[in-house]
Amino acid sequence: MSSSLRIIPLGGLGEIGMNCMVLEYEDEILIVDCGLLFSDLSHFGVEFVIPDFTYLRERKDKVKAIIATHGHEDHIGAIPFLLKAGISPPIHASNFTTLMLRERLKEYGLEDRVTLRPFKPGESFSFKHFKVKTVSVNHSIVDAAALIIDTPVGKIIHTGDFKIDPTPFFGQTIDLQAFGKAGDDGVLLLMSDSTNVERHEHTISESVIYQKFEQLFAAAQGLTVVSMFASNVARMAQVLEIAEKAGKRVALAGRSMEQNVRLGAEVGYIKNAANVLIRLEDIDAYPRDKVIVLSTGSQGEYRSALIRIANGEHGQIKLQEGDLVLMSSKFIPGNEKAIGRMINSLFKQGAEVLYEAVHDIHTSGHATRPELQQMIELTRPKFFLPIHGEYRHMVHHAKLARETKVAAENVLVATNGAVLELTKDSFRLVEQMEEPRVLVEGREGNEMSRLVLKDRRQIGEKGIVFSLMVRNIETRRIISGPEIITRGLAHEDREGFLIEEAKKICMKKLAAYENDLRRTGEPQMDIQEEIRIELRRFFFANTGKKPVVLPMILDL
Ligand SMILES: [Zn+2]
Repeated sequence: MSSSLRIIPLGGLGEIGMNCMVLEYEDEILIVDCGLLFSDLSHFGVEFVIPDFTYLRERKDKVKAIIATHGHEDHIGAIPFLLKAGISPPIHASNFTTLMLRERLKEYGLEDRVTLRPFKPGESFSFKHFKVKTVSVNHSIVDAAALIIDTPVGKIIHTGDFKIDPTPFFGQTIDLQAFGKAGDDGVLLLMSDSTNVERHEHTISESVIYQKFEQLFAAAQGLTVVSMFASNVARMAQVLEIAEKAGKRVALAGRSMEQNVRLGAEVGYIKNAANVLIRLEDIDAYPRDKVIVLSTGSQGEYRSALIRIANGEHGQIKLQEGDLVLMSSKFIPGNEKAIGRMINSLFKQGAEVLYEAVHDIHTSGHATRPELQQMIELTRPKFFLPIHGEYRHMVHHAKLARETKVAAENVLVATNGAVLELTKDSFRLVEQMEEPRVLVEGREGNEMSRLVLKDRRQIGEKGIVFSLMVRNIETRRIISGPEIITRGLAHEDREGFLIEEAKKICMKKLAAYENDLRRTGEPQMDIQEEIRIELRRFFFANTGKKPVVLPMILDL
């Protein structure tokens, strides 16, 4: 009996972020992308979420390569953690992706731990069971690639993130012919980006954005600030080119902006940096309407350049009447409130603010419905798996595939941790692992357990109570205390009353304990636990909340 190909999404199915797909055939595993998810639990100290690598750790020797489709954080951001987990096969990535990765690995001091194998989209490389052809696609970052992979069971396609833009800023456009040819040869499985399936209009071409920028820059009366994702090198290059043509200068605000302009110049996508770039501290030496500032912080991130500008806290950039702020990036769901607050602050500084809702100054990097349909029509897959999307996106994308002539029973909607088996005539779920995700605290990448998270949530929501007592280690009698300390529990006016009452409860328990001690010489009661239960009960009755209670007895 011939083996099947195992396809295991460790991330990215059910959320936008943390993309990681495992392909396993007999003694060989390839990992396609290994990204992170920015956490909506940041107020509890969870910086981001990464895939759980247990499945891979248990099969470490089989892992032959990581292939990164492009340089976005949700595709490469967890690679340092994979290396730290002891899984460090060669990494295949396009030129620009390789540079992004190199910077990321340097940050973690891991640059010597792994071999980077750069490819130009269009090139192929082979393993024992897999032959991988990389295919150029359009996306909101340069050098993005899809993968057409010949496997022993048949040809499979992983689109990575893509859109179809016939007129991108750089000549490199999606290689539709390669997908068409794969379709002619016969595609067993298509795994395709679901992000924008709910949008019906075709994505706006980058060249439309270019014209819009030209008009806006020409009309500028004061300083122009353009905020965007620092990974969007093509968009940055556009701004630099238009600025040069208009006789303007560009200054960079934000560390990642500086880094990526440098990387963009290194791979040759940004050519005129030396002609137009000026230092941020020199902008006042130029007429205000001749300066464009490229800034990070489009999501209203804490301490980012744009939020400091908005709050009037930026050392070099002070906005005034007549200045213009262009927000050339989407509002990532979850960030809307922070962005909204920032936009209000920018207006308060006197600037005019333009954002996607009102002007075409951003276009998405992800294919919309007609483009997704075109991908299915070109490749005519036997089986279909929607990837890269929230659950509802994948359901809509599955529906679209069925409407586009993929047999209904051949379309699967799977979630992270699914173990899928593909043969030349079947595609099915054989096992569902528990949600494979790990919460990460801080850039060092310390794992945070669910218990710690639960504690933090409880302390944050309900406050904390300490009760302290000192006990004589020999006589086992309480010689000092109880002292009660509360934090974040109730209004300070009520605190005194609550503390006094709580002390009485402790004293009562203490009396029972000492009785027990006198009677038996060896008290059976667990006084710490009893105090904990009684105090929780008391505080619940008086504040409506069950705080975290920590009774402590010091033996001296
Ligand atoms: Zn992407």
